[in-house]
Amino acid sequence: MRIFVTRPVPEAGIKMLRDKGYEVLINEAAKDRAATLDELKEGVKGTDAVLAVLTDKITAEVMDAGLPTLKIVANFAVGYDNIDLGAAKQKNIMVTNTPGVLTETVAEHTFALMMAIARRIPEADKFARAGKFTAWGPELFLGTDLCHKTLGIIGLGQIGSRVALHAAKGFEMRVLYYDPKPNPDFEKEFGAVYVADIDELLPQCDFISIHVPLLDSTRHLINEERLKKMKPSAYLINTSRGPVVDEKALAQALKNGVIRGAALDVFEFEPEITPELKELDNIVLTPHIASATIGTRSKMAELAANNIIEALEGRTPPNLVK
Ligand code: NAD
Repeated sequence: MRIFVTRPVPEAGIKMLRDKGYEVLINEAAKDRAATLDELKEGVKGTDAVLAVLTDKITAEVMDAGLPTLKIVANFAVGYDNIDLGAAKQKNIMVTNTPGVLTETVAEHTFALMMAIARRIPEADKFARAGKFTAWGPELFLGTDLCHKTLGIIGLGQIGSRVALHAAKGFEMRVLYYDPKPNPDFEKEFGAVYVADIDELLPQCDFISIHVPLLDSTRHLINEERLKKMKPSAYLINTSRGPVVDEKALAQALKNGVIRGAALDVFEFEPEITPELKELDNIVLTPHIASATIGTRSKMAELAANNIIEALEGRTPPNLVK
């Protein structure tokens, strides 16, 4: 069996594949950049499986280059909007993802962002490094408390629920949520309130945190009109996928005081960031690192490798995307 790994991933997953006696071809050239279309098409030739990452656009053209041998594309991510699922189905190629193992890590990063923007940490850090801290000040870098505030979660899946847990149990926040599927058990456990209409959720919240997959129905879910429905004192946090938020509209809203601040881990035109956003102080930006801890990235590599092994040994991989 031959496996193409589009970019270097933690050794734990590679070892599992090599221990099975598979030939593992790693695209080392793409260590610090996305793999190119040519590398993907060349690399996939004659392989049985591809271990792909979210910067790879796995299109019908890429899959065709791997036929007739290619059986599975194992994504090293929970989101799989980088893969043409329709084409995979048509070509009888399995697609898997890595749900669950990154839930806690992404939820922690969501809170790191929420606290960083509410307490103005990057702004204050810059100020301190610039030698501007000359005296303690009663009004120096006033921020916003999280405790007892209202958090609105959009998308109450694995990550959204974990964020809700930290919010309700750790910060005693009131939790509201919007999701096409209500979850009454969760409501009982966390005293959370389901709001069936996103437009009714937005005006009630001090913080909004987004945890939906990128789908046609979630593209620009947060647009100019919806930003205007938020409180002027509210913050928007996005660790889901960039195109869920209209970045131009967000830049305008932050500039004009429509909302107080935002924190983003993901970007509409990744890796590009809308230039206006980079000029603002009331935003925190991280380069898509919400799942980036040593332990979690190793678990993701192992899960992706396990999906490949299960598929190539003729069993249904545990994280098959249907
Ligand atoms: P999940 O499938 O457990 O949860 C997604 C939730 O969104 C589900 O409850 C679903 O019902 C809900 N949903 C779907 N459409 C919706 C809509 N239109 N409005 C509101 N809710 C909707 O997935 P998860 O593990 O919680 O991950 C969520 C997303 O986070 C992933 O799809 C991925 O894109 C993103 N993610 C980002 C990072 C990162 O590094 N920044 C890491 C992991 C996951």
